[in-house]
Amino acid sequence: MLRIIKQIVPWWVLVVGVLIATGAVWQATRLTYAVALDGIVETGEERLTLYSATLREALSRYAYLPYVLARNEAVQDLLDSETPGDQVNQYLEGLNREAGSNTLYVLDALGNTIASSNWQESFSYIGHNYGYRPYFTDAKAGRQGRFFAIGATTGRPGFFMSYPVQRAGRFLGVVVAKVDLDPLQDDWQKGGETVLVSDANGVLFLSSRKDWIYTSLSPLSAEQRARIDAGRQYAEQTLKLTPLQTVKKIDPNRSIVSDGKDRYLLLSRPLPEQGWKIFHVASLAPVRERAEAVAVTGTASVLLILALGMYARERRQKQLSRRKAREADAIKAINLRLQEEVEEHCRTEHALRHTQAELVQNSKLAALGQMAAGIVHELNQPIAAMRTYAASGRLLLERQEAEKARETFAAIARITDHMGSITAQLKIFAHKTPRRSERVVIQNCLDSALAMTSALLSEVDVKLSKTVPTAALTLHGDSARVEQVLVNLIRNGVDAMRDSQPRELKIDISTADQSLEIAISDSGTGIEEQNLSELFNPFFTTKEVGKGLGLGLSISYRIVTDLGGTIRATNNPLGGASFVVRLPIIAAEITGEDR
Ligand code: ADP
Repeated sequence: MLRIIKQIVPWWVLVVGVLIATGAVWQATRLTYAVALDGIVETGEERLTLYSATLREALSRYAYLPYVLARNEAVQDLLDSETPGDQVNQYLEGLNREAGSNTLYVLDALGNTIASSNWQESFSYIGHNYGYRPYFTDAKAGRQGRFFAIGATTGRPGFFMSYPVQRAGRFLGVVVAKVDLDPLQDDWQKGGETVLVSDANGVLFLSSRKDWIYTSLSPLSAEQRARIDAGRQYAEQTLKLTPLQTVKKIDPNRSIVSDGKDRYLLLSRPLPEQGWKIFHVASLAPVRERAEAVAVTGTASVLLILALGMYARERRQKQLSRRKAREADAIKAINLRLQEEVEEHCRTEHALRHTQAELVQNSKLAALGQMAAGIVHELNQPIAAMRTYAASGRLLLERQEAEKARETFAAIARITDHMGSITAQLKIFAHKTPRRSERVVIQNCLDSALAMTSALLSEVDVKLSKTVPTAALTLHGDSARVEQVLVNLIRNGVDAMRDSQPRELKIDISTADQSLEIAISDSGTGIEEQNLSELFNPFFTTKEVGKGLGLGLSISYRIVTDLGGTIRATNNPLGGASFVVRLPIIAAEITGEDR
């Protein structure tokens, strides 16, 4: 139950549960009814056995009387008109009293009463004719008569037993013993039992329920009525239909009947000797009450469980909605926190961007400062020289030494050329050089670069060796710029070898993975370890003032990366430095001999 309560029981489960429980209650009610009915049937059968035995016993107790009287000499003599009636009357009176029967009397051959135990009573039978009674006709026919009827004279019901009186085979008359069955009926009534006895026509003539007596269990046929009337069996009784109507026939001897108010179990058993039937009637009220008690208890339990289920469902629903509300609150709080965190992140990011912008600005300024320092450094000397040359030129003009003055002006022109070359190099940083894209054959670029540096190579006395593939290696780019890179690298190599021996410059071009590599190695001083990471920065130089501006490698770096390539510097194991440029190529075309 508890586990069920932990979840919300769906409506259909409740409905199915109630249906099942109702079914169970109905079954339990039916079972209780059946068991209680079985109990009543059992008791009823036992009672029937008992009452049929007492009835049989009550009837048989007097059965000897007519037989004994029929053999009585005095009775026979009376019928033969030999003995006076009074004597027999006294005899019958005495015997009747002793035997406990109701009345003993003698009928002559025509059915007239000639002697009777009640001869002295006001309702004496003497003189009455009972020739119409079946017990007379039966006896006259030589049989024993057995007949229940309401007394024609006394109006009191009784059981009549008769026997023929014969002498030497001659029918003289009939002796009759009337037995009162009222005490039996009273006993049944006192015992709280409803016992009924019906005759062969189905007329109830014994009943512990007075309102049911002299009613017929089924409608009487005209023939039956005629026979009853002929024997005046039930005097003036109208013999209505019994108020007991069959509701359900369980078997021929068991049925459920109703008197319109209550229901009864009607058990019957035939009494073949008399052609009668004895009935036991038991109210079904206790059975119904017991079944009703089960039904009421069961229904109450079902309703209680249903109410509990609904209460639990309601409670669980409330708990769930409370929990959902709590969860919603928690989610709202988390959302709020997240929002705050996002705002915090935004603020931090903003601050970072600000800091980064400041850093960029600072580094720009630092680079600018470095550059300015370099330019100032580079230009100061030629400017000072120019100032000196200008002053001396003016003096020489004043002295009219035209030849010397021309030399001085020529020197000034050289200085301005030098300054011009410095500023020309700086142009590359001033604005992006428009990218000319053409098919460039690397071998041709190398040839031009070597032509441009041939004077320098021979001046410093450098031994040049080169390995170049036969196939023309083509790339996209600007040949002048590629040549500038090669010239810078060749010049630097030569500069590094100026003060050392041997002076060997090796240029190797190779291909790998859709790119070419140009390696320019010298046998010079090599590069100090700490400078390896600085080489490509603008204005980094280790050369004396006036010998280098520190822009060659940074310009080369810019050109190579613009072409989608890379440039790196290493020291050779045997001394000297190597610069390796890698550039993407379009194609390698075989053009002829190895160069
Ligand atoms: P510059 O030649 O004006 O100094 P570069 O940018 O061309 O400017 O070179 C920067 C520095 O790199 C040089 O000053 C030198 O110290 C070093 N360097 C370049 N090439 C070589 C080389 N082949 N061997 C040794 N050092 C080199």
